[in-house]
Amino acid sequence: MKAVFVTEFGGVEKLRHEDVPVPEPKAGEARVQVHAAGVNFIDVYFRTGLYPAEPPVILGMEGAGVVEAVGSDVTTVKPGDRVAWAMARGSYAERQCVPAHLLVKTPDALDLDLAAASMLQGMTAHYLTHSTYPLRAGETALVHAAAGGTGQWIVAAAKLRGARVIGVVSTPEKADLARGVGCDEVILTSEEIAPEVKRLTEGRGVDVVYDSVGKATWEASLNSLKPRGMMVTFGNASGPVDPVAPLMLSQKGSIFLTRPTLAHYTAKREELEWRASDVFNWLRDGVLKVRIHEVYALGEAGRAHADLEGRRTMGKLLLRP
Ligand code: NDP
Repeated sequence: MKAVFVTEFGGVEKLRHEDVPVPEPKAGEARVQVHAAGVNFIDVYFRTGLYPAEPPVILGMEGAGVVEAVGSDVTTVKPGDRVAWAMARGSYAERQCVPAHLLVKTPDALDLDLAAASMLQGMTAHYLTHSTYPLRAGETALVHAAAGGTGQWIVAAAKLRGARVIGVVSTPEKADLARGVGCDEVILTSEEIAPEVKRLTEGRGVDVVYDSVGKATWEASLNSLKPRGMMVTFGNASGPVDPVAPLMLSQKGSIFLTRPTLAHYTAKREELEWRASDVFNWLRDGVLKVRIHEVYALGEAGRAHADLEGRRTMGKLLLRP
């Protein structure tokens, strides 16, 4: 079968699209025929080596497809089941062996492309807005990369909780899209972000910042918070944030700082099922009309990564094995 993997870390030129053996499911695993794999920024981090892994590394942390074989002691899924998953690595492939406890069955009416497009980013928006900082009606959130795949989900989930949302994006086209998915206000990256946030909040600052951009927006995010607000730094699209001194938190207004990841918010099966079923319900109810930026052939993973890193995408990128 064909898979996309790296044996050395680096740029898109390190991606290899080659034949690998069809994997046999071990105990606790199910082998899935991958209908679509989601492309996420985390795949870039595994490609470059920012996130450690032992090569060869088949990339991809998300997908949807049909179970074709199960290992011993797997009772939760069976061949023929339509399933989706996130945070199990190896999805850039025709087949993937996924730990069965990470698989959720997809509703019959849900298109498998849409399922693959929604698991990782939808559940991320869910945990950020419902658990990391559970937004309350009337609170204000600042959302960076609001027209991105994850950003659009966060905006929609925050609006569902009754919050006011200020989005940050880099272009007028992205600003239109961000407003379309629910942003009450949009700031362009060419503007001074923190002063603009202060102006929009009558000098108060926001209750929470959801920052996926990392290094480039760190300072602006801290300066946009109200006293005792929460800084949620959950990504490194512009590079990882430098080490910080705890005293800084006091100087910025006794703020709270967290650096969460989806895996820890779906570690318990009940939590995974709660988030996945909410995301499926949101899709059914049209809380967010997921925008598929492009479905790339598996062998075009390099072009997909270049587009994502080049800030040329608005919404979800999928690979078709
Ligand atoms: P996006 O679709 O959001 O694409 C990234 C966007 O980030 C770009 O479109 C761009 O939007 C913005 N950006 C700002 N600076 C840069 C830069 N220097 N290089 C590239 N992009 C930049 O990607 P994803 O939705 O896949 O991921 C967004 C972020 O969320 C990533 O950092 C990812 O790691 C993180 N994430 C974290 C999770 C977690 O649990 N911790 C789970 C899911 C995602 P613009 O042009 O408008 O500035």
